[in-house]
Amino acid sequence: MRVVQLLKTHAGRVPNPVSEATRQAHARIRGADVAVSVCPYCAVGCSQLIYTKDGRIIDIEGNYESPINGGTLCPKGAATFGLLTSPLRETRVKYRAPYSDHWEERSLDWVMERIAQLVKQTRDATYEETDEHGVPVNRTLGIGHLGGATLDNEENYLIKKLWTAGLGIVAVENQARI
Ligand code: SF4
Repeated sequence: MRVVQLLKTHAGRVPNPVSEATRQAHARIRGADVAVSVCPYCAVGCSQLIYTKDGRIIDIEGNYESPINGGTLCPKGAATFGLLTSPLRETRVKYRAPYSDHWEERSLDWVMERIAQLVKQTRDATYEETDEHGVPVNRTLGIGHLGGATLDNEENYLIKKLWTAGLGIVAVENQARI
């Protein structure tokens, strides 16, 4: 009440009590590039806006133009930014060699190379051009793929394209239903 009275008394005689820092404040997404994507988690298929600056993701929010989610995201979808950028993300993996009794810590690069080599070896050993009736199949039944819920649309597209058309793997599944 006293503040209101003071403002009335000094109206027009005191400068606007807004600091320059406040005047310059703006949303951090101002000036950012934005791309439209889809939440990777579930079959609802909420649309997301991915904001980037200098090639780095700075924010993710619900797409207000989407007829599905109208700018909203559930708590899981709203945590996508943290999923991608959290410093708590694991960047090393535990590996137990065949017949070993202990785990070793390995880098992601090492693991990716190991997986690639095993995929190549297994495909070479199990690839079939025809089945037992001579019907062309061009497939391998020696490898299966199960994707996780945090694979995004683009990753799933590439996985499907590489695994099936590229390598002939027929057992390709994903936990998410986007
Ligand atoms: S997890 Fe949530 S935000 Fe993501 S698609 Fe499903 S309902 Fe939408």
